Amino acid sequence: MKTNRRNFIRTTGLLAIASTASIESVFATSAAFPSKNKKNGLSLSFVPHELQLKHVFTLANSSRKTTPDVLTKIDFQGYTGYGEASMPPYLGESIESVIRFLSKLDLNQFTDPFQIEKIMHYVDSVDEGNCAAKAAVDIALHDLTGKIMKQPWHNIWGFDKEKTPNTSFTIGIDTPEVVRQKVAEAEPYKILKVKLGRETDKMMIETIRSVSDKPICVDVNQGWPDRSRALEMIYWLKEKGVVFVEQPLPKTAIDDNAWLTQNSPLPIIGDEAVQRLADVKKAWGVYSGINIKLMKCAGMREAHQMLTAAKALGMKVMIGCMTETSCAISAAAQLSPNADWADLDGNLLISNDPYTGMEIKQGKICLTNESGIGIDVKEKLF
Ligand code: MG
Repeated sequence: MKTNRRNFIRTTGLLAIASTASIESVFATSAAFPSKNKKNGLSLSFVPHELQLKHVFTLANSSRKTTPDVLTKIDFQGYTGYGEASMPPYLGESIESVIRFLSKLDLNQFTDPFQIEKIMHYVDSVDEGNCAAKAAVDIALHDLTGKIMKQPWHNIWGFDKEKTPNTSFTIGIDTPEVVRQKVAEAEPYKILKVKLGRETDKMMIETIRSVSDKPICVDVNQGWPDRSRALEMIYWLKEKGVVFVEQPLPKTAIDDNAWLTQNSPLPIIGDEAVQRLADVKKAWGVYSGINIKLMKCAGMREAHQMLTAAKALGMKVMIGCMTETSCAISAAAQLSPNADWADLDGNLLISNDPYTGMEIKQGKICLTNESGIGIDVKEKLF
């Protein structure tokens, strides 16, 4: 599906950017420092690509049917690595902020893409926050270097690709009719993930249980305000075959989350409370496990460090995602053989995925042998 670039700029409020730079420079090419400095340097390009959701997606506090997204690529000596920034609105990044951030970068100063540590330290130092924008650079660097080595990253990290977990399939908050329809659509999946945090919580679980006895994991997205009622609810959920509960209380309620984890009969997983590597230590003793997402932690390099740190602390690890294309999903899937659970269904929720990559077979993540992050380009957008 082709997007009319001028209309896209208008509808996404990018006119301010487009007025100070040509449209082609915003969309088609590299960052503010094109390859005039060093012809052997890395060349970064990016293009906005708004993701169309197949269903309206409802969480505890919001509903939406599109997700802003920016696709990136890094070219180097005939190789191309692909990356992506996906920006669900609650994380505070936007297409405008990602383009602004990527435009500040001078990747052309680097002539060795294998210096991922050095390059990402530089990217991190350009501005704080902007984690999805940083992930878009990091993922493209990993794809690029994996392609040069002719190895997929799960091999480079030494993971056993046969040990990938089943992925859960997310069911949003909806009417009983739609919930039953979504459970039917989730037929190939062995685990269901349910969004709770509203007054309809018991109805959601009972509706699913009326048509399915699959294990359920629950994501409350900070939607329960009271720890005692949360504990009561968790005991009820355990009776209903729930496996774990993700971010039941607000992330700022540290003592309450620790109390709940100590008393809960089910593992409590921190998601909104755990963004980057430094948060893993803070989560120890407060949560039983953490949900690692590339868009929160600035990409694969730090996600791998978080996975290692959490395992060393005896914590459970879940690899999660936003609504993303097969690019970021396949990148995250490279880590999944060492995770306890995976929630990597974000690419299945969109109708305009320009890539193919990791596949779900009988509910299980199947990694390809393609090098890098394991994707192929289905529709060339830049
Ligand atoms: Mg979550």
